[in-house]
Amino acid sequence: MASAESRAAPTALPDTASLRQRFRGRLLTEPADLEPFLVDWRRRYFGRAIAVAMPDSTDEVAAVVRWCAEHRVAVVPQGGNTGMSGAATPDDSGRSLVLSLARLKGVRAVDTVNNSITVEAGCTLAEVRAAAGSAGRLFPLSLPSEGSCTIGGNLATNAGGVAVLRYGNARELCLGLEVVTADGEIWHGLRGLRKDNTGYDLRDLFVGSEGTLGVITAATLKLYPQPAAQITAMAAVDDPHAALRLLELAQSAVGSSLTAFELMSDLCIELVTKHFPDHRRPFAQPAPYYVLLEISDSESEQHANATFEALMERAHEAGVARDTVVATSGAQSRALWALRELVSEAQALTGKNIKHDISVPISSIGDFVERTNAQLEQRFPGIRMVVFGHLGDGNLHYNVSPPADRCDREHEAEFLGLQPAINRVTHDAVVAFEGSISAEHGLGQLRRDESARYKSQVEMALMRRVKQALDPLGIMNPGKVLPPG
Ligand SMILES: Cc1cc2nc3c(=O)[nH]c(=O)nc-3n(C[C@H](O)[C@H](O)[C@H](O)COP(=O)(O)OP(=O)(O)OC[C@H]3O[C@@H](n4cnc5c(N)ncnc54)[C@H](O)[C@@H]3O)c2cc1C
Repeated sequence: MASAESRAAPTALPDTASLRQRFRGRLLTEPADLEPFLVDWRRRYFGRAIAVAMPDSTDEVAAVVRWCAEHRVAVVPQGGNTGMSGAATPDDSGRSLVLSLARLKGVRAVDTVNNSITVEAGCTLAEVRAAAGSAGRLFPLSLPSEGSCTIGGNLATNAGGVAVLRYGNARELCLGLEVVTADGEIWHGLRGLRKDNTGYDLRDLFVGSEGTLGVITAATLKLYPQPAAQITAMAAVDDPHAALRLLELAQSAVGSSLTAFELMSDLCIELVTKHFPDHRRPFAQPAPYYVLLEISDSESEQHANATFEALMERAHEAGVARDTVVATSGAQSRALWALRELVSEAQALTGKNIKHDISVPISSIGDFVERTNAQLEQRFPGIRMVVFGHLGDGNLHYNVSPPADRCDREHEAEFLGLQPAINRVTHDAVVAFEGSISAEHGLGQLRRDESARYKSQVEMALMRRVKQALDPLGIMNPGKVLPPG
């Protein structure tokens, strides 16, 4: 039997005249207009497309998908195009249509009793957070890319970010969805319910499916009370083992008030302060690693300070922190966060690098970093490990940069040639530690084949059956998540 992926049989390119007529001004076909939609944020993947459709309502999204189904044209949903796995970039066949959700910008409802908000897929994450803030509530999903990424993309990738420790990832924040299915029907699943056991959870199928099962057009999301006070601090530590001991102490001292616990190696700070000279090192003496932690207190500033001081006292007594700095103003807090949030951009400015977005059980992170660093540094002398991420969730961006004297374009191809071997060492280690090779960035094109290599045949077969059932023509973002055939 032909697989869903292979059923979009190639035929002559369809005439887009009927689409152009209906979507006048909202269908881009000029090469210069298409360009920004055909390359991913990291500039690793370049594709081609017959057009970019920018519908501004759910009905219009459904009409575009119906046209694509009729003409067997692949649909590539795109939000803010900030994804790290090439999942929003079409292939180079030129037979895809990029479906940009950027014009679906409505905030449909805010319910401060149900603590929920219903927004359309093209709202940026920052816009959703601002809308919640205007109603005196917190929407806690928070990513460095929140000014550009969309809530539709966040849900389609099940984004994580810096507050998962306390509030969970995008999946856990989603109560309901509105989705345009692969045949252009609309599933009205915008339920604001905390409890709903009425059969298979369709919402959870679409969350994290990277546009391969349907198009998310709107979502109902959980809101939380705004914290009364927040404390941001940074601790200098010897290694990830010490950071883990600090995490354990913090969790026992402040419980669920601990909202962020981020790790960074010294090289991260070096790159940020080099490429963004307005930002300064937080400590006079460098340390091998730093932890950025945030406490959100529901009582008062005074209570937050007392809790935090007690924690720091215990950390110094236990010898887990070499030194600490505490932000005493909003500006200082933002400056500490900037050191963390600019790492990806600083690394990109340094040149091409090899990224890994891995998770292992939290307790194994110290051993994972120690052993895998040693293996990689022995096999690829001179490479530099740029290790940072959400330690409190067991998730690290475990990135590899070329040796300092080989960051130039001349050596780029040589370094990227090492990618398969570096990935293999890293991901074999992840699997040996019972971890995941994609913790929050999804599979897209980047991790698709590696994931298939590590998953069992049973898991792959189940995933293929889901794809076949929801997208029998194989038109939804083909070539992403599942290998063709
Ligand atoms: C500087 C920087 C920092 C980042 N930090 C984090 C981080 O901390 N945590 C994290 O998880 N990610 C992070 N990311 C990655 C990225 O921002 C997230 O994956 C984000 O969720 C993608 O949203 P987007 O709107 O840009 O989606 P896109 O990149 O446009 O698309 C991503 C995927 O979702 C699909 N998609 C998009 N919209 C829809 C829709 N409406 N319906 C169905 N499918 C859709 C696309 O087809 C594609 O498969 C970071 C990225 C950058 C550039």
